[in-house]
Amino acid sequence: MTSRDGFQWTPETGLAQGVPSIGVISPSTKISSSPEKYDVIVVGGGYSGLTATRDLTVAGLRVLLVEARDRIGGRSWSSNIGDYPFEMGGTWVHWGQPHVWREISRYNMRTELEESFDFSRGVNHFQLRTTHGTSIMSHEEEDTILAAGLEKFVNVDGDMGRKVIPYAHDAFFVPEARRYDEMSAQDRVNTIALSLTPNERASLESFILLCSCGTLETTSFFEFLHWWALCGYSYRGCMDSLISYKFKKGQSSFAIKFFKEALATGRLSYVFNAPVSSINDQGDEVTLTTRDGRQYTGARLVSTIPLNVLNSVSFDPPLSPQRATATNIGHVNQCVKVHAEVSSKDMRSWTGISYPFNKLIYAIGDGTTPSGNTHIVCFGGSSNHIHPEEDINETKKAVENMAPGNMDIKRLVFHNWSKDEFAKGAWFFSPPRLLSTSLDAMRARHGNVVFASSDWAIGWRSFIDGAIEEGTRAAMTVMEDLRPAPALRSYL
Ligand code: FAD
Repeated sequence: MTSRDGFQWTPETGLAQGVPSIGVISPSTKISSSPEKYDVIVVGGGYSGLTATRDLTVAGLRVLLVEARDRIGGRSWSSNIGDYPFEMGGTWVHWGQPHVWREISRYNMRTELEESFDFSRGVNHFQLRTTHGTSIMSHEEEDTILAAGLEKFVNVDGDMGRKVIPYAHDAFFVPEARRYDEMSAQDRVNTIALSLTPNERASLESFILLCSCGTLETTSFFEFLHWWALCGYSYRGCMDSLISYKFKKGQSSFAIKFFKEALATGRLSYVFNAPVSSINDQGDEVTLTTRDGRQYTGARLVSTIPLNVLNSVSFDPPLSPQRATATNIGHVNQCVKVHAEVSSKDMRSWTGISYPFNKLIYAIGDGTTPSGNTHIVCFGGSSNHIHPEEDINETKKAVENMAPGNMDIKRLVFHNWSKDEFAKGAWFFSPPRLLSTSLDAMRARHGNVVFASSDWAIGWRSFIDGAIEEGTRAAMTVMEDLRPAPALRSYL
């Protein structure tokens, strides 16, 4: 099935919107014709919504899943082009991510992961292109430069950030951590600038921007420290956790397991292609209205609508002022992720940074496609933003600029997350002060409406793991509300 989402370009076909994905659900609706009151309505079929839906149906509740798109997965989905999965959004997972790993184990998918990097053959080098010129280095030298820059950046306490965030899953445990949420990444770079070599600085800034896809000024230094703590306070840990292990058959092969398990209970109804326009909590039940006027009612509602688009839905009673403010501020991640198939097989072992002049900043060889081409995945963001489908020549130029002369492009595949009306951005990355002022408000329930999103998870916030953490929390909250109290038994 082909989703409306995503774009691909080849020299033969030009630009086309929509790519095939196993995450597309057809028929798009499964609902009884007689009006029904559900136990729970779940809005959004990303990992937060899929987890909540799965847990609630398995627990015996009748659930309606309402999704704006034609597919599951939300910000994590893969397209299958020529039987090869291009990851349009969330991709990499790791066994150090507790919620995601529990699900991978549960669905017996431990052997379905593979490594993105393969330095066994080909050019086997790192190409650093900066305003100072181009350097070709070994991957060991790449690691040394990045580790050196990052360690200077995070070492605010003489212990690589451990004293500031000793518990990555309770990041404000040390009150002083809040002080670092006042700072931007730019503030911190300015503090250490004299200690950085030009190559360390360019590599460090590129890595920070790879994580936030904002600008250095809009990136919270605290949130970067939080990622660092989650990754075990090391550059190696960051590489392992953030960009190394992915599903051989793509993210949608994982997401569909949640959906199918919920469906198998017989308690799941669903409606896709149904953007929600309003949510009305009447006190004893919640009624949702879609843009085309359909109405559904449930005892509870789980909203997994992402932070950057929550203000496109009207709530009655209105959202709390603090949540509304957080939504209007939003997160800063405007990631541009572009896949390129290039003819050179040798580029499989290539990695590169082109910064700050290029529209794409960081790229790696990520696989070999069935036609024998190398799959390169490239990342850019707000610091030098591009809308790939608006100017394919400029997008091709940005890919070519990553490694001039070695990017003979056969295909481009991408999803424009900035213009996606149901996301308006990629993974959550906080600007300064948003988390220290608003995290609790983003997480709070609102009468019969429970909010769940990776955007306000506690642990791996911004990650698939955080989405599953939140879906689990929402399902537990609702189950505690709706489950009848256990009958009291007397042992006397
Ligand atoms: P979403 O997936 O956004 O789900 C919310 C759902 O709500 C969507 O399906 C949306 O369509 C729906 N919705 C929105 N508005 C409405 C409405 N009005 N009516 C009905 N439905 C609506 N994470 C990792 O762990 N590893 C990675 O490598 C990684 N890389 C990433 C790369 C990119 C380019 C992107 C975009 C994300 C990446 N992430 C990664 C982050 C990860 O994908 C997200 O954190 C996670 O998928 C979010 O899940 P969620 O369910 O909280 O939100």
